[in-house]
Amino acid sequence: MKPSPITASVDFDADGVQHGFLRLPYSRDDAAWGSVMIPLCVVKNGAGPTALLTGGNHGDEYEGPIALFDLALNLLPDQVTGRVIIVPAMNQPAFGAGTRTSPIDRGNLNRAFPGRPDGSVTEKIADYFQRVLLPMADVVVDFHSGGRTLDFLPFCAAHILPDKAQEAKAFRLVQAFGAPYSVRMLEIDAVGMYDTAAENMGKVFVTTELGGGGTASARTVGVAIDGLRNVLIAAGVVRGGVQERPTQWLDMPDGDCFTFAEDGGLIRFCADLGDRVSAGQVIALIYPTGRTGAAPTELRLRRGGLFTARHFPGLVKPGDCVAVVADEVG
Ligand SMILES: [Zn+2]
Repeated sequence: MKPSPITASVDFDADGVQHGFLRLPYSRDDAAWGSVMIPLCVVKNGAGPTALLTGGNHGDEYEGPIALFDLALNLLPDQVTGRVIIVPAMNQPAFGAGTRTSPIDRGNLNRAFPGRPDGSVTEKIADYFQRVLLPMADVVVDFHSGGRTLDFLPFCAAHILPDKAQEAKAFRLVQAFGAPYSVRMLEIDAVGMYDTAAENMGKVFVTTELGGGGTASARTVGVAIDGLRNVLIAAGVVRGGVQERPTQWLDMPDGDCFTFAEDGGLIRFCADLGDRVSAGQVIALIYPTGRTGAAPTELRLRRGGLFTARHFPGLVKPGDCVAVVADEVG
C-alpha cells in the first residue's frame, strides 16, 4: 500500500512534551499548496505503555476536545510512564466547521476505517490512524458525545468482544473512568468504526457518550477530565491513585433498545433522560406540522429500562433514532 501523505511534526520516540501537528496536504482554491493541520501533543517519559487519546472524531462533540486540550496543556513528563499521544480534534475539518462530518468530503471519520492513503481527506486521516497511530498504542480512549442530534446520560463504554481477556481489560478501564453510567455497548453500525479497527488490532479500547446537543456542560466536562485521568492511572501510563466514583452499569442487549421514527414532525417526549420506562410505553408523540387537526403518531418502546439517550432537536425525520433504553445491571 502507498505511504500515508500525512507527516507528523513531532518525534514520537523523543522524551518530553511536544506540541505539533499532523499535516495533510490539501490543495484547494484558497491554498494551492495548502494543508489540513491536525493538532497533536505527545508526552513521553521512558519505556512503558502508550495511550492514544482522541476527541473530535465527530466535529460537533465537545467534552473530549475540552478534556484533551486541557490535558495537553497540563500533563508533565514526570507524571508519565511511557507515552501519551493526544489528538483533541481528530477530524479537524469537521471540528473546525462544528459539524459531525467533514465539510470537505462529507466524510464520517467513524465510518471511514480502515481508510485509504489515496482516498478522500477523511479516508486519509483514517488510514493514518489505522497504519501509524493505532499500532503504537496499547490503550485507546476515543471521546464521543451526542453531537447536535442526540443527547445522552453521561457514560463511558466498551464493547462486548469475542476475546474475553481483551474485553475484561476494557471494562476495568470503564470502571476506573467512573462516569455516572458505564455501558456494555452493542453497536448498531460497527462497520468502518475506529472502535472496530482498534479492537481488531487487540487494543484496549474505551469510548464515551457524555452529553450532546452540540455543546458541553460544566458537569459533563468534569466527568471527561476526571474520568480520563483515572483511565490513564489505571492503565499505568500516568502516576497517581484512581479517584473511585460510583457508577451504574448498563447493558444494551439487543436492537430493541433503539426506537426509530417512522414519520417526520414535531417531537414531544413523554419521558426524560434518566427516567425508568417500560415496554409498550409511549416514549414520544410526533405531530404532523403541515396542518392543524391531525393527531400525532405515538412512538412506543419495544423494551423497558433506563431512558439513556434521545433525539435532541425539536423536529424529527423518518429514520431518526428517537430513544435508546438500557438495562440497569449490578
Ligand atoms: Zn461521535
